[in-house]
Amino acid sequence: MSSGVPVLLFKEGTSRNSGKEALKNNILAARTLAEMLKTSLGPKGLDKMLIDSFGDVTITNDGATIVKEMEIQHPAAKLLVEAAKAQDAEVGDGTTSAVVLSGLLLEKADALIDQNIHPTIVIDGFKKAFDKALEILPQIGTKINVSDLNAASTRDELRKIVYTTMSSKFLAEGKELEKIMDILIDAVTSIAEPLPTGGYNVSLDLIKIDKKKGGSIEDSTLVKGIVLDKEVVHPGMPRRVEKAKIAVLDAALEVEKPEISAKISITSPEQIKSFLDEEAKYLKDMVDKLASIGANVVICQKGIDDIAQHFLAKKGILAVRRVKRSDIEKLEKALGARIISSIKDATPEDLGYAELVEERKVGNDKMVFIEGAKNAKSVNILLRGSNDMALDEAERSINDALHSLRNILMEPIIIPGGGAVEIELAMRLREYARSVGGKEQLAIEAYADALEEIPMILAETAGMEPISSLMDLRARHAKGLVNSGVDAINGKIVDDMLSLNVVEPIRVKRQVLKSATEAATAVLKIDDLIAASQLKS
Ligand code: ADP
Repeated sequence: MSSGVPVLLFKEGTSRNSGKEALKNNILAARTLAEMLKTSLGPKGLDKMLIDSFGDVTITNDGATIVKEMEIQHPAAKLLVEAAKAQDAEVGDGTTSAVVLSGLLLEKADALIDQNIHPTIVIDGFKKAFDKALEILPQIGTKINVSDLNAASTRDELRKIVYTTMSSKFLAEGKELEKIMDILIDAVTSIAEPLPTGGYNVSLDLIKIDKKKGGSIEDSTLVKGIVLDKEVVHPGMPRRVEKAKIAVLDAALEVEKPEISAKISITSPEQIKSFLDEEAKYLKDMVDKLASIGANVVICQKGIDDIAQHFLAKKGILAVRRVKRSDIEKLEKALGARIISSIKDATPEDLGYAELVEERKVGNDKMVFIEGAKNAKSVNILLRGSNDMALDEAERSINDALHSLRNILMEPIIIPGGGAVEIELAMRLREYARSVGGKEQLAIEAYADALEEIPMILAETAGMEPISSLMDLRARHAKGLVNSGVDAINGKIVDDMLSLNVVEPIRVKRQVLKSATEAATAVLKIDDLIAASQLKS
């Protein structure tokens, strides 16, 4: 058989790394990344300073930002980055936890592989442990009553959730924080749609955040409707129109300029006059047409020229021009209007409706507020702040808080934070492992071990002794204290994380387990790493 001719499967320069060696290598890379993030976990987590290739510096302890900025090269570590991204996209929180937990799972898997347990068995065990954990999770959770979104008790519960997410990150406190919390709760509850499962659907894209420099955070407001960052075009127009019938145009209220320049020979003053009259008449006809279908507000994507403005003002119509296409489309939906492209064909059915259209002063600028729209499901948070940095910072933490509110309203169950849930899961998973037996039992126990490291890390960042903290927690959970965890702020073990308000929505924790388990098993599945030689640049 052997002809002495070597079989070349890959291109020259390709490196191949297979079997156990490849696996160990990948695990090492993924663990290194997770290891880095460990010290950023929890309220006492430290910041990372990241310097990109342009020399720009970012200082943060937000897992999602860290992994995004780090420009990870190693393909296996990239799987963890994907896990962080999935976590962020699904629930907008828990990214550090997801990456750290996948690293811990891989650390435990590594030890099993060293004991000659095949990766497939580890993967199966991890999957079993994950399924069981999902089953246990709701049993640990506490239901919160959100049946009436306007009830004071519901608002209090929601307030706790917002407070937990915002207090550590948001610069504002006291009155400013109170004000923002109210706005966020109002925003979310006004767009929430009940689900048959008992929770609510909350589409965050119905909440628009507009940042306007000037004033303080406390001046921020919630507009139940739409805000256009535009002024009314003409001083003679009304500033306020109630029961507004709104024409939404994507045609210009201007005499169209010809595409190619044309030369008109005018030989007498009368001709100039009649030419201008002609233009004015054309514009007047358009305005008359809009008035005849009953419009008292005109919102135009394109321009409105001076003559047209004058006629509109005479008819008492409020008009706004050069509105963004995306806003025009949003208005079409919210107002129940049909976008008018050809004014001469417009009908009363094309008009949209809102209770009120009004120009208001915001700081030094004027903006047009549209409230009580026909299909009023969108809201606008008008965020004020003294400078761009404060506004950006506020926007980021508002986004986090909106995600938390969404998570809790979609599935109104909270679970205790500070590692309490991890200890409880670990305890129950070990029980379950015994019933499974065999080598998989070892993998399920390894999963439990990985979970238990989370409270140890939290304890360590808070300056506590990790092993004795773990022992203490285990003892308390064995006595049935399900909510016992690490109070990282005060550096001690407590019986009830709920009373400290350190809680997480069940959706976040479930997604953390899912992202981490998926990433870890994806790394364990690879037993061959074939890398093409790098192109020289
Ligand atoms: P993530 O990106 O995963 O959300 P965080 O740095 O926000 O990362 O850390 C979240 C972890 O910190 C969770 O396990 C949470 O329960 C825990 N945690 C939050 N606040 C406290 C606290 N006051 N004491 C102890 N643990 C806390």
